[in-house]
Amino acid sequence: MVKQLGRPAERDSEGNKISKSLVNVTIPTKLRDFLSDNNINRSQLFTRVVTMLYCHLLCPKCYQTNIMDNPMCIRCDDCDIVIKYHNCSLCGEQYNKKNLVQAVKKSSDLGCQTCQK
Ligand SMILES: [Zn+2]
Ligand SMILES: [Zn+2]
Repeated sequence: MVKQLGRPAERDSEGNKISKSLVNVTIPTKLRDFLSDNNINRSQLFTRVVTMLYCHLLCPKCYQTNIMDNPMCIRCDDCDIVIKYHNCSLCGEQYNKKNLVQAVKKSSDLGCQTCQK
């Protein structure tokens, strides 16, 4: 048996080994001290925050987690920014400020203003 050096490798939900690499980030000294004083693992924190941002669970502007998902978009309820517009389920066009969600006549479906003109 080969002796395991260090911690056992982390595995994903399918059991595959998660390969890792070192990235350098430059942060304010005060933030570095805060992380160090509070024994916060920077690798875990970075991975967690970036994953949350990618999954739209964290607002990229105010960093709050009060994220609302409605038929038109994913938005932050705290600072009221749109994080991501959805596409119209009928025509595939992306919603935007001028192409709003609209009820489809004689149906419970929702479409966009572009295809429901
Ligand atoms: Zn926000
Ligand atoms: Zn549409």
